[in-house]
Amino acid sequence: MPGPRLANKVSIITGAGSGIGLETSLLFATEGSSLILADINLEAAERTATLIQNKFEGTIKAIAVRCDVSKEDQVEAIVKRAVDEFGRLDVMFNNAGIMHPADDNALVTEEKIWDLTQNINVKGVWYGCKHAIIAMRQNPTDESKGLRVGGSVINTASFVGKMGAATPQLAYTTSKGAVLAMTRELAMIHAREGIRFNSLCPGPLKTPLLMDFLNTPEKLNRRLNHLPMGRFGEAIEQAKAVLFLASDDSSYVTGHDMLVDGGLTSAYVTAE
Ligand code: NAD
Repeated sequence: MPGPRLANKVSIITGAGSGIGLETSLLFATEGSSLILADINLEAAERTATLIQNKFEGTIKAIAVRCDVSKEDQVEAIVKRAVDEFGRLDVMFNNAGIMHPADDNALVTEEKIWDLTQNINVKGVWYGCKHAIIAMRQNPTDESKGLRVGGSVINTASFVGKMGAATPQLAYTTSKGAVLAMTRELAMIHAREGIRFNSLCPGPLKTPLLMDFLNTPEKLNRRLNHLPMGRFGEAIEQAKAVLFLASDDSSYVTGHDMLVDGGLTSAYVTAE
């Protein structure tokens, strides 16, 4: 039996209180990672930490921290916390993001909604990458392999960074395109330091973020109709892809847009 896939690793997950972040936190704990669980909603992050505490009876360390990823000092603080508590940082999952209900088309989206969305979804990812790089540079070289150990950074983008939709959410779509571009460039700049950067591109999921946005049967069915598998995705299906990108199983994968979208981006028409 192979050992846990994140044994001896230290990971930070942002948006750990709900949806993809919550499921990834539970899966990473199962695979042996120590965890900093960051969320703007401290109570939600604490609920995740308690779930882990109860399930693993304290054998996995998971610390909940309040962090607004759009504030650089708060992102710097969660990275410092990981290094102070656990001595290193191996995995940074920059996952926190918003889709604002007032996000709309080019004509009606207000500047404050645009700015809020970019601040969290783009700047927040930049800050997470920046401070992860600083910490991961301190990880020792693996002398036996002559390799820089570095780390793995996974940034949550979205399928909407890859394709257009006639149901507008312009600030969000723009922000996710920026995450894809940022991640690819960082992957190139830091490849020889052993720091890998990949994007997760989820399809539409059954999580609060999307379900709160699609708050009428009409809005819901407008999307459901286009999904090749005829269903929304589950957060755990994203978490499994994140685990692959975080672990050494993906040691030769960097600069990749990992689509976990139920085939949506391959669709022209779907089965009726
Ligand atoms: P979710 O709403 O279930 O969870 C998001 C979490 O992020 C929440 O716990 C929230 O408190 C936290 N958060 C919000 N703003 C924050 C901030 N400024 N700082 C720190 N934490 C903050 O959402 P989810 O569906 O799990 O989404 C996670 C990521 O996946 C997001 O980046 C989202 O854009 C992306 N995504 C989601 C879908 C989908 O259909 N749900 C599809 C594609 C991409």
